[in-house]
This record gives sequence, C-alpha cells and structure tokens, in this order.
Amino acid sequence: MVDDFFFRMNPARVRFGRGTRVLVAEEVAALGAGRAALLSTPEQRDLAERIARSLGAASAGVFGEARMHTPVDVTDRVLAEIEHARADCLVAAGGGSTIGLAKALALRSGLPIVAVPTTYAGSEMTPVLGQTENGEKQTLTDGRVLPKSVIYDVDLTLSLPVPMSVTSGINAMAHAVEALYARDGNPIVTLMAKQSIGALSNGLTAIVAEADDIAGRRQVLYGAWLAGTCLGLVGMALHHKLCHVLGGSFDLAHAPTHAVVLPYAVAYNREAAPEAMEHLAEALGTSDPVAGLFDLVRRLGAPLSLAEIGMPAAGIGRAADLAVRNAYWNPRPLEREALFDLITRAHSGAGF
Ligand code: NAD
Repeated sequence: MVDDFFFRMNPARVRFGRGTRVLVAEEVAALGAGRAALLSTPEQRDLAERIARSLGAASAGVFGEARMHTPVDVTDRVLAEIEHARADCLVAAGGGSTIGLAKALALRSGLPIVAVPTTYAGSEMTPVLGQTENGEKQTLTDGRVLPKSVIYDVDLTLSLPVPMSVTSGINAMAHAVEALYARDGNPIVTLMAKQSIGALSNGLTAIVAEADDIAGRRQVLYGAWLAGTCLGLVGMALHHKLCHVLGGSFDLAHAPTHAVVLPYAVAYNREAAPEAMEHLAEALGTSDPVAGLFDLVRRLGAPLSLAEIGMPAAGIGRAADLAVRNAYWNPRPLEREALFDLITRAHSGAGF
C-alpha cells in the first residue's frame, strides 16, 4: 500500500563515470568560482595536487591536513590559510574525513563545495557535519554544508584496498538498510535503498574476487551514491546510534564498526519492521534478510566481532547504557537488557 508521505530532494549536481575528475574545472566554473582550495588528507595529497595542476590558474592551492573526526583546531588553521589564499570555492578530494573538513569550512565561510569522494561513506550527499573539540564529537545538520556538486570517479576508488572497500561499502549499505525502516521514509527513498543494497552486495562480491573489476567498482560507487542520498534524506535508527556510541566511546574505526554491527542491528529490528525486511531480503536476493547479511559480511571477509576491531569486553555495559540515552527513534523500542545482549553477541561475533 502507498501510505501518505513527504518527499524532498537535496540539491546537487552529480557527475558519475571513469576519469570524471577532469570535470572538476567545469564544476568549479559552473559555481561561478575561479579560485578553488583543494582539500585532502596527508595520505591523499598527491591526488589533490594532480587536480590542482589540472585547474591551473583556477587553483588557490592544496591544503592537505584533513583528519578523522574533523578536529576544530585543524578547521580553524585551514580557514585562515584559505582566506589568505583568497579561495572562492572548496574542492574536497577524499573520503568522509576530507569532506568533513570541507563542510566545516563551508559552515564558517559560506564557500561552496565540489566533492570528489574516494570512499563509499556517503558524507557528500548529506547536510550533516560531525566535529570534535576537546575530545567530544558534536553533530549538526545545516544546509550550508551540503556540497553543490559531486564528482564520482570510479578510477579514484581503485586505490582503495579491498578490506577498506568492503568495510566502507558495508558502511554505505547500513545507510540504505536503515532508510528502509526510517520513520520519515517514503517510496522513493525505498526504491533508492533497494537499488543501493543490490548494487553494493553484487559490486562488493565482484571486487573481493578481483580488486580492479571495473564493473564491480562502478556498482559499488553507484550504490554508495544512492546510500548517501538516503542518509541525507531520512533519519537513521539503532544501527547508526550504536556505531556512534561504540566509535566515540572506544575510538573504534568508523567503517569497520559499521561492518560488524549491521547484521546485529537488523536482527534486533527484524520483528518490528516486517515490510522493510521483505524489501531487504528482495534486494539481497535471499529469503532470510538477517541470515543473508551475516552470510554476506562473512563472504566478503569483513571483521566479524567488535573484539577484533579493538573494543574491550569491559565496555559492554557502558555501551548499552549509552545506547539507550538520548535514543534515536527505532522501529523496536531500545531496551537496555536486549541491547546488552546484542552488544555481547557482536563483541564475540556469536551471531544472532
Ligand atoms: P576517511 O576519509 O577517514 O579515509 C580513511 C583513509 O583512507 C584516509 O587516510 C584517506 O586519505 C584514505 N583514502 C580515502 N580514499 C582512498 C582511496 N580511494 N585510495 C587510497 N586511500 C584512500 O574514511 P571514511 O570512512 O570515508 O570517512 C570516515 C569519516 O567520515 C568519519 O569521521 C565519519 O564520521 C565521517 N562521515 C560523515 C558522514 C556525514 O554525513 N557527515 C557520513 C559518513 C561518514
């Protein structure tokens, strides 16, 4: 049945293909800008420098200091540098950390962003920004941080090692899965989410078999775009809350945490979201969505337990306490004891 719904779309120009990084100049010009500040992590400075060279006089320089969790002191320093360089737009070449820096700068300067994502995290399609100050991460939603243009270049994902591609791809899949049971979901988001889950599942399987499988890389990047779009349009639930709590409390890596938690969060919500489970099963091509997800992460060689990515067993009780505090909406109410059990299972990789 088609229920009542509200639908909006976040505005962005999207270019998708191979070798599309040469379109950065065109996208910068389309913004009416002429001096682009190139942003990257120290590890991807080379990529930013190559793009800067291709821009010629339209480059205001390379600022290669992006870090995980968008520390405010780094943002303040880079802000002063780009003001000094008289930049009139930002080009973020990298994953969620680099796009996070661009968003933090856009919030403070009003400069528009051209994003060139090189992971599957999806930040480029959302108006959400997480920033860290004095060891605390604060998240805000503000339309000013949404990139104006996004360039997906399949070739730039070839250097992403397979284990990182897998965890980053499952990170993307988690956005699409939670979009299926979002409180503010709608039929268009469901369409995108199902298409995303199918593309990610097939594409990741292909690149685990052969890292440079271009058709597989295309599918995963396409699925990641759709997943990021879902993340930018509807609210997330238990899975994202748990990953936020676990990542923040135990300093666990972002994408691997998502990869471990996803099947457990879906198992928790199974009975409370029957329609979403049917969509998920269909998208995965399986009759049992929970077993299908456990099977997928195992086949892809993703980490299977929180213990193996560094969570101490002694932290399980605290994680369960934090998960029920300021809880996100979730199809099944968040019960402390049931969550303690979920985290205990995810910690040892026991399954559900
Ligand atoms: P990342 O951006 O931290 O990248 C991890 C490392 O991989 C970096 O050293 C990076 O330079 C390198 N790298 C990236 N792409 C590469 C490639 N193609 N080849 C080789 N190396 C590459 O990782 P991430 O998972 O994309 O981002 C995680 C961060 O993004 C977290 O802080 C998370 O909170 C944030 N995030 C935010 C949103 C949002 O909507 N605000 C959404 C998703 C993630």
